[in-house]
Amino acid sequence: MSDVKSAKVRLYVEHPLGQGQTIPLDRDQAHYLFGVMRLSVGDHVLVFNGRDGEWLVQVSDTGKRGGALDCVAQTKPLQLPPDLWLLFAPIKKARTDFIVEKAAEMGAARICPVQSEFTNSERIRRDRLQAHAVEAAEQCGGTYVPDVAELERLDRVLATWPVDRQIMFCDEALVGAGEVLSVGGDKWAILIGPEGGFSDAERARLAAMPNAHAVSLGPRILRADTAAVAAMTLWQSALGDWT
Ligand code: SAH
Repeated sequence: MSDVKSAKVRLYVEHPLGQGQTIPLDRDQAHYLFGVMRLSVGDHVLVFNGRDGEWLVQVSDTGKRGGALDCVAQTKPLQLPPDLWLLFAPIKKARTDFIVEKAAEMGAARICPVQSEFTNSERIRRDRLQAHAVEAAEQCGGTYVPDVAELERLDRVLATWPVDRQIMFCDEALVGAGEVLSVGGDKWAILIGPEGGFSDAERARLAAMPNAHAVSLGPRILRADTAAVAAMTLWQSALGDWT
Protein backbone atom coordinates (compact mmCIF):
# COMPACT_ATOMS: atom_id res chain seq x y z
CA MET A 1 0.00 0.00 0.00
CA SER A 2 1.61 3.28 -1.06
CA ASP A 3 -0.27 5.03 1.76
CA VAL A 4 1.67 2.89 4.23
CA LYS A 5 4.95 4.06 2.65
CA SER A 6 3.83 7.67 2.81
CA ALA A 7 3.24 7.36 6.57
CA LYS A 8 6.32 8.92 8.14
CA VAL A 9 5.13 8.66 11.70
CA ARG A 10 4.42 5.63 13.88
CA LEU A 11 2.53 6.48 17.03
CA TYR A 12 1.34 4.64 20.12
CA VAL A 13 -2.22 5.57 21.17
CA GLU A 14 -4.47 4.34 23.98
CA HIS A 15 -7.69 4.42 21.99
CA PRO A 16 -9.26 1.24 20.49
CA LEU A 17 -8.41 0.70 16.81
CA GLY A 18 -10.75 -0.85 14.24
CA GLN A 19 -12.76 -0.20 11.12
CA GLY A 20 -14.78 3.00 11.56
CA GLN A 21 -12.89 4.14 14.67
CA THR A 22 -11.86 7.76 15.08
CA ILE A 23 -9.00 8.47 17.46
CA PRO A 24 -9.15 11.79 19.31
CA LEU A 25 -5.74 13.38 19.85
CA ASP A 26 -4.59 15.10 23.02
CA ARG A 27 -2.55 18.28 23.13
CA ASP A 28 0.87 16.55 23.14
CA GLN A 29 -0.05 14.27 20.25
CA ALA A 30 -1.44 17.21 18.26
CA HIS A 31 1.71 19.22 18.93
CA TYR A 32 3.90 16.33 17.77
CA LEU A 33 1.92 15.46 14.64
CA PHE A 34 0.99 18.97 13.46
CA GLY A 35 3.60 21.22 15.10
CA VAL A 36 6.72 19.03 14.90
CA MET A 37 5.99 16.62 12.03
CA ARG A 38 3.94 19.19 10.09
CA LEU A 39 1.19 16.75 9.11
CA SER A 40 -2.12 18.04 7.80
CA VAL A 41 -5.59 16.71 6.95
CA GLY A 42 -5.37 13.71 4.60
CA ASP A 43 -1.85 12.66 5.68
CA HIS A 44 -1.27 9.08 6.79
CA VAL A 45 0.13 7.80 10.07
CA LEU A 46 0.67 4.29 11.46
CA VAL A 47 -0.69 3.72 14.96
CA PHE A 48 -0.85 0.83 17.44
CA ASN A 49 -2.24 0.49 20.94
CA GLY A 50 -0.71 -2.76 22.16
CA ARG A 51 -3.98 -4.67 21.62
CA ASP A 52 -5.39 -4.23 18.10
CA GLY A 53 -2.32 -4.58 15.89
CA GLU A 54 -1.06 -1.75 13.68
CA TRP A 55 -3.42 0.47 11.70
CA LEU A 56 -3.02 2.91 8.88
CA VAL A 57 -4.93 6.04 9.85
CA GLN A 58 -5.61 9.35 8.15
CA VAL A 59 -5.59 12.79 9.72
CA SER A 60 -9.19 14.07 9.66
CA ASP A 61 -8.96 17.08 11.95
CA THR A 62 -6.06 19.23 13.10
CA GLY A 63 -5.73 21.85 15.79
CA LYS A 64 -3.33 23.31 18.34
CA ARG A 65 -4.91 21.49 21.24
CA GLY A 66 -6.23 18.37 19.55
CA GLY A 67 -7.29 16.70 16.36
CA ALA A 68 -8.47 13.35 15.05
CA LEU A 69 -7.26 10.32 13.11
CA ASP A 70 -9.59 7.99 11.18
CA CYS A 71 -8.76 4.28 10.88
CA VAL A 72 -8.23 3.19 7.25
CA ALA A 73 -6.97 -0.41 7.37
CA GLN A 74 -5.08 -2.81 9.59
CA THR A 75 -1.47 -3.13 8.45
CA LYS A 76 -0.19 -5.70 11.00
CA PRO A 77 -1.89 -8.09 13.39
CA LEU A 78 -1.03 -7.92 17.08
CA GLN A 79 2.22 -9.80 17.65
CA LEU A 80 2.79 -10.62 21.30
CA PRO A 81 6.35 -11.20 22.50
CA PRO A 82 7.28 -14.46 24.24
CA ASP A 83 6.28 -14.60 27.92
CA LEU A 84 9.62 -13.24 29.11
CA TRP A 85 10.08 -10.82 32.00
CA LEU A 86 13.25 -8.85 32.49
CA LEU A 87 14.13 -8.34 36.15
CA PHE A 88 17.00 -5.93 36.63
CA ALA A 89 18.44 -3.77 39.37
CA PRO A 90 18.22 -0.09 38.38
CA ILE A 91 21.57 1.59 37.87
CA LYS A 92 22.43 5.12 36.73
CA LYS A 93 19.63 6.93 34.93
CA ALA A 94 20.99 6.78 31.39
CA ARG A 95 21.94 3.11 31.71
CA THR A 96 18.56 2.23 33.22
CA ASP A 97 16.85 4.03 30.31
CA PHE A 98 19.02 1.99 27.94
CA ILE A 99 18.00 -1.30 29.59
CA VAL A 100 14.28 -0.46 29.29
CA GLU A 101 14.63 0.65 25.67
CA LYS A 102 16.58 -2.49 24.70
CA ALA A 103 14.20 -4.80 26.58
CA ALA A 104 11.25 -3.37 24.63
CA GLU A 105 13.10 -3.75 21.32
CA MET A 106 14.32 -7.26 22.06
CA GLY A 107 10.86 -8.57 22.93
CA ALA A 108 10.33 -8.58 26.68
CA ALA A 109 6.71 -8.95 27.77
CA ARG A 110 7.24 -7.20 31.12
CA ILE A 111 10.02 -5.13 32.64
CA CYS A 112 10.47 -5.35 36.41
CA PRO A 113 12.96 -3.14 38.21
CA VAL A 114 14.05 -4.92 41.41
CA GLN A 115 15.95 -3.64 44.39
CA SER A 116 18.61 -6.11 45.43
CA GLU A 117 20.99 -5.82 48.40
CA PHE A 118 23.67 -3.99 46.44
CA THR A 119 21.31 -1.80 44.39
CA ASN A 120 22.18 1.86 44.81
CA SER A 121 19.08 3.55 43.50
CA GLU A 122 16.04 3.45 45.73
CA ARG A 123 13.68 5.21 43.41
CA ILE A 124 12.73 5.02 39.78
CA ARG A 125 10.43 7.17 37.68
CA ARG A 126 8.13 4.43 36.46
CA ASP A 127 6.19 6.76 34.14
CA ARG A 128 9.40 7.95 32.49
CA LEU A 129 10.63 4.38 31.98
CA GLN A 130 7.23 3.41 30.57
CA ALA A 131 7.50 6.30 28.09
CA HIS A 132 10.89 4.92 26.99
CA ALA A 133 9.28 1.52 26.38
CA VAL A 134 6.56 3.20 24.28
CA GLU A 135 9.14 5.10 22.21
CA ALA A 136 11.15 1.94 21.64
CA ALA A 137 8.04 0.09 20.43
CA GLU A 138 7.17 3.02 18.12
CA GLN A 139 10.56 2.95 16.45
CA CYS A 140 11.11 -0.84 16.24
CA GLY A 141 7.84 -1.66 14.50
CA GLY A 142 6.47 -3.63 17.44
CA THR A 143 2.73 -3.82 18.06
CA TYR A 144 3.09 -4.47 21.79
CA VAL A 145 4.47 -2.34 24.64
CA PRO A 146 5.88 -4.14 27.69
CA ASP A 147 4.57 -2.92 31.03
CA VAL A 148 7.17 -1.39 33.32
CA ALA A 149 6.40 -2.45 36.89
CA GLU A 150 7.05 -0.42 40.05
CA LEU A 151 10.37 -1.01 41.80
CA GLU A 152 10.05 -3.96 44.18
CA ARG A 153 12.47 -5.57 46.59
CA LEU A 154 14.09 -8.66 45.09
CA ASP A 155 13.57 -10.75 48.25
CA ARG A 156 9.84 -9.97 48.14
CA VAL A 157 9.60 -10.76 44.45
CA LEU A 158 11.32 -14.11 45.01
CA ALA A 159 9.17 -14.88 48.08
CA THR A 160 6.02 -14.89 45.94
CA TRP A 161 7.59 -16.21 42.75
CA PRO A 162 5.14 -18.20 40.55
CA VAL A 163 6.08 -21.90 40.50
CA ASP A 164 5.54 -22.18 36.75
CA ARG A 165 7.98 -19.44 35.76
CA GLN A 166 11.66 -20.24 35.20
CA ILE A 167 14.41 -17.76 36.09
CA MET A 168 17.55 -17.36 34.00
CA PHE A 169 19.74 -16.11 36.83
CA CYS A 170 22.76 -14.33 35.36
CA ASP A 171 25.37 -14.89 38.01
CA GLU A 172 28.66 -13.08 37.66
CA ALA A 173 30.20 -15.62 40.06
CA LEU A 174 29.97 -18.12 37.18
CA VAL A 175 32.05 -15.89 34.90
CA GLY A 176 33.79 -18.19 32.41
CA ALA A 177 32.09 -21.31 33.78
CA GLY A 178 30.37 -22.01 30.49
CA GLU A 179 27.00 -22.70 32.13
CA VAL A 180 24.30 -22.15 29.55
CA LEU A 181 20.54 -22.51 29.44
CA SER A 182 19.59 -26.15 29.34
CA VAL A 183 15.92 -26.13 30.31
CA GLY A 184 12.80 -25.40 28.32
CA GLY A 185 9.44 -23.97 29.33
CA ASP A 186 7.47 -21.05 27.99
CA LYS A 187 7.26 -18.72 31.01
CA TRP A 188 10.55 -17.16 31.86
CA ALA A 189 12.31 -14.27 33.56
CA ILE A 190 15.87 -13.05 33.17
CA LEU A 191 17.51 -11.71 36.34
CA ILE A 192 20.36 -9.20 36.06
CA GLY A 193 22.12 -7.79 39.12
CA PRO A 194 23.39 -4.29 39.85
CA GLU A 195 26.96 -3.04 39.34
CA GLY A 196 27.77 -4.42 42.79
CA GLY A 197 26.59 -7.91 41.81
CA PHE A 198 24.55 -10.30 43.97
CA SER A 199 25.06 -10.94 47.68
CA ASP A 200 25.85 -14.42 49.05
CA ALA A 201 22.40 -14.49 50.66
CA GLU A 202 20.71 -13.73 47.34
CA ARG A 203 22.80 -16.37 45.59
CA ALA A 204 21.87 -18.93 48.27
CA ARG A 205 18.20 -18.05 48.01
CA LEU A 206 18.21 -18.45 44.22
CA ALA A 207 20.17 -21.71 44.48
CA ALA A 208 17.37 -23.08 46.67
CA MET A 209 14.69 -22.30 44.08
CA PRO A 210 14.09 -25.26 41.74
CA ASN A 211 12.99 -22.96 38.91
CA ALA A 212 16.04 -20.66 39.08
CA HIS A 213 18.87 -21.60 36.72
CA ALA A 214 22.23 -19.90 37.20
CA VAL A 215 23.99 -19.13 33.92
CA SER A 216 27.21 -17.52 32.82
CA LEU A 217 27.43 -14.80 30.20
CA GLY A 218 30.94 -15.68 29.13
CA PRO A 219 34.49 -15.18 30.34
CA ARG A 220 34.28 -11.44 31.05
CA ILE A 221 32.27 -9.47 33.63
CA LEU A 222 29.77 -7.37 31.71
CA ARG A 223 28.23 -4.15 32.88
CA ALA A 224 24.61 -4.60 33.87
CA ASP A 225 23.26 -2.90 30.72
CA THR A 226 25.46 -5.05 28.47
CA ALA A 227 24.49 -8.14 30.47
CA ALA A 228 20.77 -7.41 29.99
CA VAL A 229 21.13 -7.25 26.20
CA ALA A 230 23.45 -10.30 26.08
CA ALA A 231 21.08 -12.37 28.23
CA MET A 232 18.03 -11.41 26.17
CA THR A 233 19.92 -12.31 22.98
CA LEU A 234 20.84 -15.74 24.38
CA TRP A 235 17.33 -16.40 25.63
CA GLN A 236 15.63 -15.21 22.45
CA SER A 237 17.82 -17.34 20.22
CA ALA A 238 17.43 -20.45 22.41
CA LEU A 239 13.78 -20.26 23.48
CA GLY A 240 12.18 -17.12 22.08
CA ASP A 241 10.66 -15.82 18.86
CA TRP A 242 13.82 -15.33 16.80
CA THR A 243 13.61 -18.63 15.00
N1 SAH B 1 30.52 -6.12 40.57
C1 SAH B 1 30.32 -7.45 40.09
C2 SAH B 1 29.80 -7.45 38.64
C3 SAH B 1 28.38 -7.09 38.47
S1 SAH B 1 27.97 -7.06 36.77
C4 SAH B 1 31.64 -8.18 40.12
O1 SAH B 1 32.65 -7.55 39.88
O2 SAH B 1 31.62 -9.40 40.32
C5 SAH B 1 26.25 -6.73 36.81
C6 SAH B 1 25.36 -7.92 36.52
O3 SAH B 1 25.53 -8.35 35.19
C7 SAH B 1 25.63 -9.16 37.37
O4 SAH B 1 25.00 -9.12 38.62
C8 SAH B 1 25.08 -10.26 36.48
O5 SAH B 1 23.68 -10.37 36.61
C9 SAH B 1 25.41 -9.78 35.10
N2 SAH B 1 26.70 -10.31 34.59
C10 SAH B 1 27.76 -9.59 34.17
N3 SAH B 1 28.72 -10.39 33.68
C11 SAH B 1 28.28 -11.66 33.78
C12 SAH B 1 28.80 -12.95 33.43
N4 SAH B 1 29.99 -13.08 32.86
N5 SAH B 1 28.06 -14.04 33.68
C13 SAH B 1 26.83 -13.93 34.24
N6 SAH B 1 26.27 -12.74 34.59
C14 SAH B 1 26.97 -11.61 34.37
